[in-house]
Amino acid sequence: MKKIVIVGGGVAGTLTANYLASHLRDEIRGKNVSITLISDKDKQLYEPGLLYLIFNRLHESDIFMPIKYLVDPLIDLKIETATKIDLDNEKVYTDKNEYDYDYLVIATGSRVAPEEIPGLTEAGYWFYNYEGAVKLREALANFAGGKIVVSVMGVPHKCPVAPIEVSFMLHDFLKLHGIRDRSQIVYTYPINKVFTMDPVAEMVERMFEERGIEYRTFFNPLEVDAKNKKIITLEGEEESFDLLISIPPHKGAKVIFDSGIGDKSGFVPTDRFTLKVEGYDNAYAVGDATNLPVSKAGSVAHFEAEVVSENIAAEIKGYPPTAVYTGKAFCFIETGFEEATYIWFDYYTPPMPVKPNKFVHWMKMAYNKAYWLTARGIL
Ligand SMILES: Cc1cc2nc3c(=O)[nH]c(=O)nc-3n(C[C@H](O)[C@H](O)[C@H](O)COP(=O)(O)OP(=O)(O)OC[C@H]3O[C@@H](n4cnc5c(N)ncnc54)[C@H](O)[C@@H]3O)c2cc1C
Repeated sequence: MKKIVIVGGGVAGTLTANYLASHLRDEIRGKNVSITLISDKDKQLYEPGLLYLIFNRLHESDIFMPIKYLVDPLIDLKIETATKIDLDNEKVYTDKNEYDYDYLVIATGSRVAPEEIPGLTEAGYWFYNYEGAVKLREALANFAGGKIVVSVMGVPHKCPVAPIEVSFMLHDFLKLHGIRDRSQIVYTYPINKVFTMDPVAEMVERMFEERGIEYRTFFNPLEVDAKNKKIITLEGEEESFDLLISIPPHKGAKVIFDSGIGDKSGFVPTDRFTLKVEGYDNAYAVGDATNLPVSKAGSVAHFEAEVVSENIAAEIKGYPPTAVYTGKAFCFIETGFEEATYIWFDYYTPPMPVKPNKFVHWMKMAYNKAYWLTARGIL
């Protein structure tokens, strides 16, 4: 019996598990293969929905789904917290059990670490996890005008385009509520442009200027002065705010630190083509958990899950494992409440955003509803 263990029940973990179940249906039924998915939560959160939750455009019932409804019945789902991953001895320990494996897939994601910036927890908001998004939803509902700063406080972070999207959506939100003229939106980014990739940066800078959204570049927050409501940067600048929407620094999962298998931020050293954990032939990392220089995005997790599941299934069936990940990513970019664009890119091809339009926006809205089919491996 070949045992496959997957740790993490986000999009990367559930998709890998579902694809594997579909490739190995006969082997599982014949009791030659088992797939165990370990998740510390019994519900999956559709994180992209948080961008809409803060503006009351999606709600809790849209963005949470019990994982048992997402996974193939051939998968053994365990709601347990992995406490240690022992790559040398091929074992995963949880708060309830221990599991041997022949193949391991680490899909433990990333998490926000606002505590890394002194003062941020007291004075700032964020929408990068559910708890933060709920507080921001409340703050936005009560906002009566003033200065909003959207500040990216560390890279890498999930969904590189979400800070841009929230800035455009804020512009429309304030206009709808009749308070745009008594409000200021300021976007800050750590490097010398508003986004890492030139074609996107150029488009966004132009669109920010058209909408009167200000931006500051080379802006690396050191601390937040909660009493005086201002950000202080490494470059010696200060930016005051009435409402601070931060994208806090990100870290890997606690179990990665506790197992000593990550880099200093807790991301797993991963081969950019095979997605194998560096130095291990039967352990893979997918999704936000990797240290790869690719977007921490659901679409990346999706394409990576395809590669890893194909290769593990091929080895088990006795075929050569030849699938490679080529850095493929796809992102919608909302440019307000009515229009959006999108980008495709990979290791070799830079992104080229199309002119924002209503059709792409409605595609994104439709995808928000269809997401649960993706997590099941159907779409
Ligand atoms: C506001 C926002 C907007 C976004 N928009 C987009 C978008 O438009 N398009 C896009 O492609 N991506 C988007 N993303 C990014 C996308 O949501 C993430 O990249 C994706 O969720 C990563 O999936 P994952 O499975 O790797 O990690 P996660 O979704 O973080 O899942 C990891 C899971 O592992 C669990 N886990 C961690 N440690 C343990 C443990 N010890 N034991 C058991 N389980 C554990 C976690 O609880 C979690 O459930 C967005 C993200 C945010 C926050």
